[in-house]
Amino acid sequence: TGQNKEVSTMRSIAVLNQKGGVGKTTTAVNLAAGLARAGMRVCVIDLDPQAHASLHLGIGVDNGHDSIYEVLVGDASLADVRKQVAENLWVVPAHLDLAAAEMELAGEVGREVILYDKLAADDQEFDYLIIDCPPSLGVLTLNALAAVTEVFLPLQPHFLALHGLSKLLRTVDIVARRINNHLRLTGVILCLFESSTRLAGEVAGDVDQFFTNGAGANTAWADAKVFRTRIRRNIRLAEAPSFGQSIFEYDGSSNGAEDYANLAREVLGVPLANSEQPKLAGAA
Ligand code: ADP
Ligand code: MG
Repeated sequence: TGQNKEVSTMRSIAVLNQKGGVGKTTTAVNLAAGLARAGMRVCVIDLDPQAHASLHLGIGVDNGHDSIYEVLVGDASLADVRKQVAENLWVVPAHLDLAAAEMELAGEVGREVILYDKLAADDQEFDYLIIDCPPSLGVLTLNALAAVTEVFLPLQPHFLALHGLSKLLRTVDIVARRINNHLRLTGVILCLFESSTRLAGEVAGDVDQFFTNGAGANTAWADAKVFRTRIRRNIRLAEAPSFGQSIFEYDGSSNGAEDYANLAREVLGVPLANSEQPKLAGAA
């Protein structure tokens, strides 16, 4: 059990931004589905009381008392509530009850490491664990940060994109120092990208600059990068959740499916298709 974890090669990722509507859930679900299609065993943990990731993965809202709430506040194990939703893809669903967890755990000693402990006690092996965080930096998000080694930060490139970022980075850094010294910000994913607008390009440049200007030296975000894959705004991505399908099931030929397949490849470290490669200097 505990010994197996030492040699685990699982990558564990929290998809985090305390702002709502930036593409967290869309990214958690479709990146997970993309990785699963590439043959990886993937488990999504839905930590948002709104349960959008669970719905997106086809789990109904009336899943009753089989959710991450029972794991965090009660005696349930992850295995008790985890459901397989596709080949190679599992979800630990959320439930509206989870909104109360923040309060219910307030007086609990060690409340930030409950999920970490449950994961340590879990005997299932996955290649990827992906946690969809709620839009806050409260105890649920702290549980995610204590339990993973990587943070992926979706950003919507508009003029306030960097606003609030310092608070998020400070939180990640504090958790890395006090609770989980393996925690790092891997990178920023530009979501809802409008390739036709000048603003999107400018903000992308600003974000790039922000993470390469050295300000993060000696922090948990020192090596953060901006993922090369940009997730374009695509209506099919907005439609898919209400059908309980990932973008690959809903419309495999959409730009959304192409972008998330590319993101999955980038995360896996597989070279992207030729059209995505940077031009060589001197090449026409
Ligand atoms: P968050 O989890 O950060 O609140 P969501 O992933 O739920 O954000 O996205 C917010 C809304 O925008 C949702 O309605 C979602 O379907 C939609 N959306 C997300 N990404 C895209 C995209 N690339 N193109 C079009 N709509 C998107
Ligand atoms: Mg969400």
